[in-house]
Amino acid sequence: MDYERMLREVALRVTRPRVAVLSAVHDHPHADTDSIIGIVREGLGGVSHQAVYDVLRALTATGLLRRIEPPGSAARYEARVGDNHHHVVCRLCGAIADVDCAVGAAPCLTPSDDHGFTIDEAEVIYRGLCPACHTATSSRKDSRV
Ligand SMILES: [Zn+2]
Ligand SMILES: [Zn+2]
Repeated sequence: MDYERMLREVALRVTRPRVAVLSAVHDHPHADTDSIIGIVREGLGGVSHQAVYDVLRALTATGLLRRIEPPGSAARYEARVGDNHHHVVCRLCGAIADVDCAVGAAPCLTPSDDHGFTIDEAEVIYRGLCPACHTATSSRKDSRV
């Protein structure tokens, strides 16, 4: 991945923290801010929380990253942008996975009543249990029998 070029293409100056954050999110999709700070600090000691927050804001504003906010969870970031994909979130552990949009473009749900709004996006979050939590809950049930 040529992170420096990606930064230049959105007219952002190339800095080590920007490259480090961009590469951390590419390698760890759906990471929250604390994990991103941890990963960035492994490579670049001495980067402040505030610096990472500022970089995340700049990268999101220029469209290099997408910020998602699953209900009941901290904001997460991902580098897969611009394809209107959705997410499935585990109710128990908060694990997140990408789900391709069934339609392919926003808005992928037609509202029954648009109230005169021009609608350009529908946010879809699938919820349920991830395979690990599903296995854990069903084996717990079994042992009770
Ligand atoms: Zn889970
Ligand atoms: Zn995603």
